[in-house]
Amino acid sequence: MDFKALDREYIAGTYDRFPVEIVSGKGSVMTDETGKTYIDLGSGIGVTSFGAADELWQQAVIAQIGRVQHTSNLYYTQPDVLLAKLLCEKTGMKKVFFSNSGAEANECAIKLARKYAADRYGPAACTVVTLTNSFHGRTLTTLAATGQAHYHELFQPLTPGITSIDAGDMAALKAIHAKGRVAGVLIECIQGEGGVLPIDPAFVHALADWCGAEDVLLMVDEVQTGNGRTGALYSYMNYGVQPDVVSTAKGLAGGLPLGATLMGAKCADVLGFGDHGSTFGGNPVCCAAALSILQRIDDGLLAAVREKGDYLRQRFTGAPGILSVRGMGLMLGLETAKPAGAVVKECLQRGVLCLTAKDRVRLLPALNIPAELLEKAADVICAVCAE
Ligand code: PLP
Repeated sequence: MDFKALDREYIAGTYDRFPVEIVSGKGSVMTDETGKTYIDLGSGIGVTSFGAADELWQQAVIAQIGRVQHTSNLYYTQPDVLLAKLLCEKTGMKKVFFSNSGAEANECAIKLARKYAADRYGPAACTVVTLTNSFHGRTLTTLAATGQAHYHELFQPLTPGITSIDAGDMAALKAIHAKGRVAGVLIECIQGEGGVLPIDPAFVHALADWCGAEDVLLMVDEVQTGNGRTGALYSYMNYGVQPDVVSTAKGLAGGLPLGATLMGAKCADVLGFGDHGSTFGGNPVCCAAALSILQRIDDGLLAAVREKGDYLRQRFTGAPGILSVRGMGLMLGLETAKPAGAVVKECLQRGVLCLTAKDRVRLLPALNIPAELLEKAADVICAVCAE
């Protein structure tokens, strides 16, 4: 059977797939339908935190499937409670709402900010501010939050009351606030889809101070940057600020769909009975998977992520055909002399899976990728960029 033809016939044409069918994987090595293997520097866009078919992750998932795969949120279950407790212990946040994706985690954050502000300052205090070049998801509300006009064009009208400012432009934020209160500000500390672009720490600090002073919720989108990716558990920890709300997903459950919205002391009790919900959110299998991932993101692993990131940075900085390197930990963006898409295509042919982000080659390998695979993959990328 020609699965690629069937895919084109039956699956909505929203994805421009590479001509490769992935049939299996182990750790950071993936195998296609011809038996060809690839070193995976994409980890399913930052999802498979410990690679494909990781043993401990599998054990946790299989054990929970054997107990019960779903119960609904009408009943208590253990994995979601244990996961929420661990997330709070590791971050100092106070409560968690579980959903299924990054977009939903951000939807919850936006709803939370609106209710927080409405409870205190009335329903007109509903504006949510995000940054130009951000990406927060594909639902109509998170598209509105995504500060890139080209994502908006086909889907008007989007959710109103969400507006973007340029990173660094505190004056624009203050002007919006002066017109009608801002409920919350949602940022990525490193804009992933926006080209692996770290936000200036001075601006993040100014924003955090201003939000604190004005009682506006500071919300950090850790969907891509979270769960160890940048060498800290969450990227805001690299910046030394304490958000009121943190959204995360992607790598949290290591390859199963789970979103989480973490709430700080200020807003932990804003959402009450019936204010929000999700059929699958907090699914016990996904939460058991996430528990096994989060328990292993310890200081040793984070130090190794930083070390491997430094290694890659060293390999690529000044290499022929590589013009610049940015990012943190194992979230890196390479500016290449050749178009990023061409580099990724050539790397695929030579057995290395990479990603793009805008005009950059983006690397998001598994957090535990072995050093020798990283070295081999870096050799391939350097060779492709140098030609
Ligand atoms: N936020 C950020 C920073 C992301 O990178 C993404 C996805 O790339 C999302 C939100 C949306 O996540 P999901 O695709 O799980 O809805």
